[in-house]
Amino acid sequence: MSGAPDFAVIGGGIVGCSLAAFLAEAGASVVLYEREAIAAGASGRNSGVVQHPFDAALVDLYEESLEHYRTLGRGFTLPEDPVGLLLVSEEPTPAPDEFPELKPAFVGGAELRALEPALAEGLVAWRLETGRPVPPAAAAKAFALRAHEAGATLQVGQAAHPVVEGGRATGVTIDGAHHAAGAVVLAAGPWTPVESISPLWGVVVEYELPDAPRHVLEEAGIDGLTKGQKLSSVLFSAVTARGISAIGSSFTPDEPDGEALTREIVRNATRFLPALEGVEPGGMRACARPISEDGRPLLGPLPEVEGLAIASGHGAWGITLGPASSRRVADQLLGRRSDIPPALAAERISG
Ligand SMILES: Cc1cc2nc3c(=O)[nH]c(=O)nc-3n(C[C@H](O)[C@H](O)[C@H](O)COP(=O)(O)OP(=O)(O)OC[C@H]3O[C@@H](n4cnc5c(N)ncnc54)[C@H](O)[C@@H]3O)c2cc1C
Repeated sequence: MSGAPDFAVIGGGIVGCSLAAFLAEAGASVVLYEREAIAAGASGRNSGVVQHPFDAALVDLYEESLEHYRTLGRGFTLPEDPVGLLLVSEEPTPAPDEFPELKPAFVGGAELRALEPALAEGLVAWRLETGRPVPPAAAAKAFALRAHEAGATLQVGQAAHPVVEGGRATGVTIDGAHHAAGAVVLAAGPWTPVESISPLWGVVVEYELPDAPRHVLEEAGIDGLTKGQKLSSVLFSAVTARGISAIGSSFTPDEPDGEALTREIVRNATRFLPALEGVEPGGMRACARPISEDGRPLLGPLPEVEGLAIASGHGAWGITLGPASSRRVADQLLGRRSDIPPALAAERISG
């Protein structure tokens, strides 16, 4: 193993890039393998909101990630205060009161129109004190730069696959050639090769609107995402960062027909944002989210294979949670005190 890096990280999204940065900053030698480009996957094609995850098991990851983002820099800026999240619906929905720190407030009628003039008439909403919009790829790119500055090698352009020999990960193969490493971490998003991770495809449509929504807008029910609930295939959302509104979104196990789905997303969204009518979209972001069986991330060593770990399964909230997950996996790999809770430990899966 002489000359081999301590760690090979597979995947250059928010999770792989932040993991490579934390490992390299601790003095480890790291090679990150990304087959296409940094942030080529969901980490460059998301809606772009850092928000409360509506799951008590994930709140610590969210709060710690905010801290990482506050000091990240390198082209990334976290809005100091949340812009507020409106959970909108046509009929009143039960109070989202599980997290009182979000200060849920019911708004409707003239009050809602004054708060968010972009919304259609006749809607009601719960306002929650969360939601910081960020451009979709900014976080992953900033962490990639930070990893590079700390001495990590970012090898971009070829797919890498883990090699397991005699119950131990010995490195990766690229085009059939073996590249040794002390340990291998799988952070390849929905392409992470373990049975418990599957793709949940999402599409958002980009608009430049003269009167863009001020809040993050989400259709009531979207909070079921982190509760492992099956959602309808299209749910309205709108996130505006640097003048571009990402209008979404979809949730399907198979890769969708982008054009047909765009029409459906826009038709659904126009019920909430009438100003979309007649405006040409500027572009589309489509990708799969990495979703685990219970909807929560899988972090740390994989059972039964020595030297093989995983950091994936962040589903709909990987930008929100990714940096804190990576910091925890990095600490465990570096032999520091582990603070991966059992509810998120990879040991809970079998295959
Ligand atoms: C439409 C949409 C909207 C979203 N909105 C939000 C949001 O507003 N807020 C939020 O927090 N989250 C959001 N998410 C979720 C978030 O984007 C993901 O959870 C997160 O980006 C996953 O990061 P990752 O690093 O695990 O995976 P990815 O970003 O998918 O990165 C994995 C990388 O691995 C690479 N790779 C795959 N196989 C190999 C291989 N064999 N060798 C080398 N490289 C490989 C891929 O090219 C890719 O770059 C959204 C997702 C989608 C799709």
